Amino acid sequence: MNNGLICIPICSASIEGLEKKIVAANEKADVIEIRFDCISPDEFGSTGSVPVTKITKLLAAAQKPIITTFRIKEQGGDRDISADERQAFWNTEFETEFCDLEEDVIDDSRYPIRKNRICSFHDFSGTPKDLDALYERLRNTGADILKIAVKPDDITHGIPVWKLLAKAGSDGKVIIPVAMGESGKWVRILGLGHGAFLTYASLDLGEETAPGQITVDDLTNVYRSKELTNATEVFGIIAGDTSYSMSPYIHNAAFATAKMDRVFVPLQTSDLSNFMRQMVRPETREIDLNFGGFSVTNPHKQAIIPLLDEIDETAKKIGAVNTVKILEGKLFGYNTDAAGFIAPLTAKYGGLSNANVAVVGAGGAARACIYALKQAGANTTVFARNVEKAAPLAADLDAMLRKLPTENCGAELRDFDILINTTPIGTRGPTENQTIFSADDLSGIKLVYDLIYVPEETRLLREAKLAGCQTLGGLEMLIGQAVRQFEIWTGEFPETEVLENAARKRLALL
Ligand code: NAP
Repeated sequence: MNNGLICIPICSASIEGLEKKIVAANEKADVIEIRFDCISPDEFGSTGSVPVTKITKLLAAAQKPIITTFRIKEQGGDRDISADERQAFWNTEFETEFCDLEEDVIDDSRYPIRKNRICSFHDFSGTPKDLDALYERLRNTGADILKIAVKPDDITHGIPVWKLLAKAGSDGKVIIPVAMGESGKWVRILGLGHGAFLTYASLDLGEETAPGQITVDDLTNVYRSKELTNATEVFGIIAGDTSYSMSPYIHNAAFATAKMDRVFVPLQTSDLSNFMRQMVRPETREIDLNFGGFSVTNPHKQAIIPLLDEIDETAKKIGAVNTVKILEGKLFGYNTDAAGFIAPLTAKYGGLSNANVAVVGAGGAARACIYALKQAGANTTVFARNVEKAAPLAADLDAMLRKLPTENCGAELRDFDILINTTPIGTRGPTENQTIFSADDLSGIKLVYDLIYVPEETRLLREAKLAGCQTLGGLEMLIGQAVRQFEIWTGEFPETEVLENAARKRLALL
């Protein structure tokens, strides 16, 4: 356990809406931040500012310590607030455990001194160049607590705000570092274990008051943020976009059930080598996060290979790494996609010796599938929209290669027993209702396997069912490869059911 707190910020245009949210937050928050700047002027009556009776009513609804915030637009507030209105608000008579004031007014004598003053700074466009100088400026105010919120556009740009934790610790200052956006989630999750005073969490999905805010349920029950310390071993998914990843849900559930002091976080980066150099490699890293290993996914599965110390034979043959284990400062690469892919296929279809398999797509996942199919004795043909680009993959893995047809598809697929989709067509988003092949094209195919798992049943699988094919979705592969990752990282076998339940629970929300 650490001493950090989870604060739920509450924003609503109406007093009634705020009150309802405060009541809901009472159940889950350690601290509630009431964003008075969210209240619509329609609620003011003739007063020109939030009437004291309404403030008192809201404060009475809270059963947890409150942070009062009345933020100006320039600092991320909800609406334009005049200087007079701002001053009038802070001169209203009420008392809360904390108040959040911006740098320009914190030491202004026209603003009464209140207890536990947070001096806050927000940058929604990036990370300011000289964060240390900014920290010094805020430290030199009369504030009791410093809050610095930045928006890194890549994971390593969150390092400066993370480093403030150690600085504030040695200065004896209380600090709230915030890294907004998907690339900053690691700071929100791990901060409490490294001395952050609090971390902000949204009341629910869709209730975020800043980019990248994690729900209070996820922060508490998935990431177990209040249980983390600086000794906790950190794992994570390295991806270009971590926002749809199921891996944090699956792996954190497995760690929690096994009662392991380990956590799994999103690590979104478009600059893999910088991430490895500045945050991971023991010789060059700038912060010490006790990393134990990673899942690796799009677009880094191949690019990570030269950045590792060793990779195992399977990963070498596939030419892609989806798992990294860190042991005594050395980085070892593995590929668990192949094992995760083939197990459910053979369980459903039976032996694959001499089966004719069509693999659509020629990316990272296709590599693992083709390798596993070859190991199982299948005859594999890759269908790619760009055969020139796919040629090295087909040559590396000794597979046949054909252009993905756009007409006469049924004839092109006539001789195949199994069809596997490794393209993202049909996944949640703009292509969700698309399919590479229709039911007519698929008649005669015995089994259609779609690697996509969001949604669980894709349009392609629906077409396959219409054509009378057996079907297999991507969820079993996802679980299978994650089980193997868990074994590599921990040396123990997880309860597969726990991983499955966690994945299904998450899928139901997507
Ligand atoms: P990737 O490396 O980006 O490869 C995607 C492949 O699909 C590329 O060959 C790409 O062709 C092709 N493609 C994309 N859009 C296409 C289109 N409109 N028409 C034809 N071909 C198209 O991605 P990946 O890592 O292999 O992942 C692919 C899918 O598999 C994703 O949906 C992912 O979620 C899923 N997956 C699932 C699991 C699991 O455990 N179930 C594991 C890994 C991946 P170009 O090269 O020409 O762009």
